[in-house]
Amino acid sequence: MVMFMEVLYLVIPCYNEEEVIVETKNKLKNKMNFLIRNKKISNLSKVVFVNDGSVDNTWNLICNFNKEDKLFSGIKLSRNFGHQSALLAGLMSVVSKADMVITLDCDLQDDVEVIDKFVDEYFKGNDIVYGVRNSRKKDSFFKRNTAVLLYKLMKLFGVEIVYNHADYRLMSKKAIISLGNFKEVNLFLRGLVPLIGYKSSIVEYERQERFAGNSKYPFKKMFNFAIDGITSFTVKPIRFIAGLGFVIFFVSIGMLIYTLIRHFNGETIIGWSSVMVSVWAIGGLQLLAIGIIGEYIGKIYLETKARPRYIIEKDLDEK
Ligand code: UDP
Ligand code: MG
Repeated sequence: MVMFMEVLYLVIPCYNEEEVIVETKNKLKNKMNFLIRNKKISNLSKVVFVNDGSVDNTWNLICNFNKEDKLFSGIKLSRNFGHQSALLAGLMSVVSKADMVITLDCDLQDDVEVIDKFVDEYFKGNDIVYGVRNSRKKDSFFKRNTAVLLYKLMKLFGVEIVYNHADYRLMSKKAIISLGNFKEVNLFLRGLVPLIGYKSSIVEYERQERFAGNSKYPFKKMFNFAIDGITSFTVKPIRFIAGLGFVIFFVSIGMLIYTLIRHFNGETIIGWSSVMVSVWAIGGLQLLAIGIIGEYIGKIYLETKARPRYIIEKDLDEK
C-alpha cells in the first residue's frame, strides 16, 4: 500500500546521562522497530545521540549501542556546548539523511508514545510539529514555577513562543534547512523555530518525571536561559528603559520647578531625606539601564565574533 517511505531520525542531546540512557535506548528501540514494522517509516531511520561533552560514561554507552544495533548512532561534541547547541549540531548533521527529525530529551520526560502522532502530523503536510505538554503535575514545584515564570516573562517582553512547548518537536528536512539559515550564536530554538514559518501543528503529551539522574538545568542555567531568550529576540527592554527615562525626565522637571518655588519662599533646608531617596532611586535605575544595555552589547559582541556554535569531534556514521 505504501509507495515510498520517509526516513525518520531522532536526535537526542545527552549530558551526563549514564543513569538513564540505557532505558531510553530500549524504549526507543521498541518504538522505532514498531514504526518500521508497520511500514510507517523507512528502515533507514535512526536514533542519533548527541554527546554534549559528558564527563561520565555516556559516550562509551552510545558507542556500544552503535556496535550492537545500527539503528543507533552517535555524535560526539568536542566539549559541553549546552543543550541548544547540541540540538542544532544533531539536526544539522542528520538533515541530509533524514526526511523528518524529532528532537527529544534523553531523560524520558518527553513521552515516547506520541512519536506516532508526530509522524501522523507530518504526513498531514506539517513541516513543524510542536510537542506541547498538557500539564506540569509531574514536575517539581520549583521547576514548574520557574518555568511558568520564564514563559510569562518572555511573553511580557514580546517573544513569541509556543506555550508549554520545550524542545520536543518534529521538523521536516525543509524546515531544518531553513533553520540552518539563521546564523545566530545566541541560540534559543524555541523562539527561532516559529520564525521559520511553514505549516505547523501541535501534539499534546503528558510530561513524565525524569526517569533517573538530576536535571541538568539548575536555577542558574534556567535564569540565564530566560535572559538569553529575551535579549536574543526583542529590544523591548531597551525601549522600556528609554520610556522610563523619559518619564523620569518629566518628573525631574517638575521637581526642579518645585524646588525653585521652595527656594524663593526661603524654605531651602528641608528635604534632605527626599534628596537622599531620589539619589538612590536614580542611581539604581541607571545601573539597571546600563546593565540591560550591556546585555545587548554583549550579545552583539558574541555575534560579531561568529564563533562556531558547536564542534563535532566524532560522528559514528562517518567512520
Ligand atoms: N543537556 C545537554 N547539554 C547540557 C544540558 C543538558 O545536552 O549542557 C541535555 C540533557 O542530557 C537532556 C536535555 O538536554 O537530554 C534536557 O536536560 P534536562 O532534562 O536536564 O533539563 P530539564 O528537563 O530539567 O529542563
Ligand atoms: Mg529533563
